[in-house]
Amino acid sequence: MPIATVNPATGETLKTFDPLAPEEVDRRIAAAAAAFRRHRTTDFAERARLLGRAAGLLDEDREDIARTMTLEMGKPLAAARAEAAKSAKAMRWYAEHAEGLLADEHPAPAAVEDSGAAEVRVRYRPLGPVLAVMPWNFPLWQVVRFAAPALMAGNTGLLKHASNVPQTALYLEDLFRRAGYPEGCFQTLLIGSGAVEAVLRDPRVAAATLTGSEPAGRAVASVAGDEVKKTVLELGGSDPYIVMPSADLDRAVRTAVTARVQNNGQSCIAAKRFVVHRDVYDAFTERFTALMDGLAVGDPLDESTDVGPLATEQGRADVEELVDDAVRLGALARCGGGRPALPGALARGWFYEPTVLTDVTPEMRIHREEAFGPVATVYPVADVDEAVGLANDTPFGLSSNVWTRDEDEQRRFARDLEAGGVFFNGMTASHPAFPFGGVKRSGYGRELSGHGIREFCNVTTVWHA
Ligand code: NDP
Repeated sequence: MPIATVNPATGETLKTFDPLAPEEVDRRIAAAAAAFRRHRTTDFAERARLLGRAAGLLDEDREDIARTMTLEMGKPLAAARAEAAKSAKAMRWYAEHAEGLLADEHPAPAAVEDSGAAEVRVRYRPLGPVLAVMPWNFPLWQVVRFAAPALMAGNTGLLKHASNVPQTALYLEDLFRRAGYPEGCFQTLLIGSGAVEAVLRDPRVAAATLTGSEPAGRAVASVAGDEVKKTVLELGGSDPYIVMPSADLDRAVRTAVTARVQNNGQSCIAAKRFVVHRDVYDAFTERFTALMDGLAVGDPLDESTDVGPLATEQGRADVEELVDDAVRLGALARCGGGRPALPGALARGWFYEPTVLTDVTPEMRIHREEAFGPVATVYPVADVDEAVGLANDTPFGLSSNVWTRDEDEQRRFARDLEAGGVFFNGMTASHPAFPFGGVKRSGYGRELSGHGIREFCNVTTVWHA
């Protein structure tokens, strides 16, 4: 894949970039290692000052960087602005809380006495340069979610961003430089995915985090495993959205639309499979289909657009294949199911209609695979057991949504859903204070909160005899 900005709304190539030469990659890894030797001993006040300044600059730049993101990957402009604001908020959260999250721990006195030690403390020390392999769908947020805690912990960052968001990648390096971070603390490597292995095998690189597809995660984790380096993986999801009879149906339907089509349907935590109790199935499906069908598909720079293009031509082809396969095997497209007819240059963009599929069966690919676009599947179920069974019948386990006001049902779902999150009467969201990540093929490790910042720390037992 060439490293280039290609406007997905028109297919037009706006800017191309040469990948870094191996010598330049080597120079940057050396700079990351040298910067780590200094950055690891800076105090929290200094780190918070730098990150706070980066947050302020990001706020000032919001309009410009939002347009850049929209041009590079096609999300509606309002969503791009919100992403920039959320990223600045996460920076401030870690600037304020990192010191407390990484404070020395003092084991219980009885345990210390039992060990025979005079004193024991657990310290969180940084690991070193961390390689971040990041996707295009939230091109600022995914990076900041890694960088803010990593830098506050005293690590340094090397970003290999997706090849279709190079301008956002370069913006991030420039942002941290303007904020005053010393050279080497945060750098962007404009390289293709084929050059990742050599970086990961470099002894100066301590660990890696990857957000993206399962094949990419497997490739990076295999190399990291071979090198015995820590990884965090945040991969795909096919989150269930369960609606039980006690739900506030009106809110459940409206939220379902947002949960499915946010970011043009390309979010790992988007609700993708709608699992609806028979008592409310017809009403839900009818109203959900009507709202999905009424969404405005078009130019993401136009403020009235609800759903923009898919980010890549391949991404649209993948969605088309999944829907066509399902329809061929008997699924019913209640709305959508094809490319919209758009005027002018937009006719060359990678748009896909918001689509609702019913009568989906297990032999259809979409039953097991992630639909990374505005395509929803709706299934009827008879009771909680069937809802749990269907929700868990997926290789993924990122998050889950349940609409019920029944407390017994809430306890069952919170106990039994195989996912890293269970959200009741709302849609999945992330917040800097709460852990984020999945189980099964959705990956391992956690981002955000204290769990996230400690992933790339050397948890050190300091024992005084
Ligand atoms: P990828 O997983 O291919 O890309 C994510 C990142 O990984 C990019 O930086 C990419 O670089 C890099 N990468 C890809 N393959 C390798 C490899 N073998 N070794 C090292 N790095 C690699 O995502 P795609 O854009 O291809 O999307 C495909 C599917 O992935 C989507 O349809 C969706 O299912 C899932 N996905 C999930 C995301 C999530 O948020 N969980 C985000 C994006 C995608 P490069 O761009 O240079 O190839």
